[in-house]
Amino acid sequence: MPTRNVITPFSYVGRILRRGSRHLLATLDAYPNLISVAGVLCAVVVLAGTTAWLTADRAGRIERAHERAQSVASVVASGLNANMNIYSALLDDMASAPRNAAASPISDNVRERIRFGQAVSHELLDDAFIVDADGTVEAPFENPSAARVNLSDRDYFQAFARGTSHGLYVSEPLDSRIRDGRRSIALARRIEGPGGAFEGVAVLIVRLDNLQRFIGGFESRDVEAVHVVRNDGAVLVDAQRPNENLSLALHEIRGERIDLAGVKCCSARVDSAPLAVVVAPSTHRTLRVWRHQAWWQGLLAAGFALTLAVGSMALESALRSRYKALTRLREMSMTDGLTGLSNRRALDIRLDEEWRRASRKNRQLSILFIDIDKFKLFNDEYGHAVGDDVLRNVAQCIGAQVSRAQDMAARYGGEEFAVVLPDVGAEEAAGLAERIRHAVEGLRIAHAKSDAGAVTVSVGCATGTASLENLAGGAEQVLQAADAQLLIAKASGRNRVSSCVLGEPVHNQPVRNEPVETRT
Ligand code: GH3
Ligand code: MG
Ligand code: MG
Repeated sequence: MPTRNVITPFSYVGRILRRGSRHLLATLDAYPNLISVAGVLCAVVVLAGTTAWLTADRAGRIERAHERAQSVASVVASGLNANMNIYSALLDDMASAPRNAAASPISDNVRERIRFGQAVSHELLDDAFIVDADGTVEAPFENPSAARVNLSDRDYFQAFARGTSHGLYVSEPLDSRIRDGRRSIALARRIEGPGGAFEGVAVLIVRLDNLQRFIGGFESRDVEAVHVVRNDGAVLVDAQRPNENLSLALHEIRGERIDLAGVKCCSARVDSAPLAVVVAPSTHRTLRVWRHQAWWQGLLAAGFALTLAVGSMALESALRSRYKALTRLREMSMTDGLTGLSNRRALDIRLDEEWRRASRKNRQLSILFIDIDKFKLFNDEYGHAVGDDVLRNVAQCIGAQVSRAQDMAARYGGEEFAVVLPDVGAEEAAGLAERIRHAVEGLRIAHAKSDAGAVTVSVGCATGTASLENLAGGAEQVLQAADAQLLIAKASGRNRVSSCVLGEPVHNQPVRNEPVETRT
């Protein structure tokens, strides 16, 4: 039962792939340097892609570190804001409570509120007192019997006394004169009498180490440092630079991303106080992790790119060697080993090609069939080795006469040669045949058993026009006609040329050529 070739999508795709790979291989055979170019291009793409990816990854990591720092800043700011709201309310109470010399400067109401607010604010708050209009502390909150200390030189007192500040004031870091020189800041509010007259300052003291601890509770691996900054840029809490005034302007702090001593930081305002929280993202740690990964990925990419480039070059070199070897093999398979002329196989291929070409263009094709006269006797007389030399010399002589690029001289077999002459008419072909005959005779190779006394050749010559209907046999028919003419030349006494034109009456009359003087 006959089998049918069923075309499935798989077989169709397979066929396309096979055809594509054949085309690809043919292209690579013709242009092997494409492999190196493609390999180097791929290597460049790998390196460029890795570089772009690493750069984007770096930017992304920094951006994420900033986002984390921003959320830490917001959380710390809202924590401080909650405390500052309470302190601001307390200061309002302290400033507005009626005062008289007999009673405590801080009313019971305010004391209760401070105690009530302990749950939220006690950890930060260290002291509370009123400073009178001369700058003298009226009574610390927890230490009513403390010596009366003068604080008229403090920045908050002077700001209020001069009337340059009216809201909640946050002082510069100071060493407490009441609490054993503890490093603190003061939160203060102006106390005003009737008509806005300056009557003193209500002060709450926040210990900086407490504030530092409070801030420290928010620090994490994601951030490098958290600073509490006054709006004029004075850094209140900064473990690394405690006394440094980084001179940030208010408008800088409003923007979320600010430059703090060369480090890009995130910030958030504390709404209820002239404070901001500035957070430095942990870009060092982020970049350290990134560098570690980038190093390995870069190394891998470089290794891969190098392998691609070197591998493609090695492949190109291997393909070139293979191509050279194939070309050499092809040449060898088409060349006669003894004479160096084309061999029979090459002749057959060429005849076929030339006939098809001649058919397309309605052109003539001439073939010469050349045979060394009485060569068997020569071998018998001088030996096969000398016979081989003669074959080489005759082949060289024939080759030298065939000068046009499109002509071909080949060893047909034994002591027979053929010459293919595309687009050559009978007369021109006969002329060349005669020149070959004459040239071989001119070699003057002694041949004792030949009538001429020298090695000679007989040449059969045939010309056909490719379009003629009686030439259905193609080039083979022309070759046979040339062979027939050779037999005629032989029969007529050898060392002659006999020619014919196919499709015309055959000239059986061989041309007798004047022999050159024979070497003895
Ligand atoms: P004719 O003039 O009729 O062509 O006579 P001939 O002797 O040349 O022809 P024949 O066909 O009788 O003999 C051909 C000889 O060519 C026989 C063989 O010894 C010789 N021959 C064929 N190939 C080679 C070869 O490769 N080397 C050598 N030395 N001789 C060869
Ligand atoms: Mg022969
Ligand atoms: Mg012969």
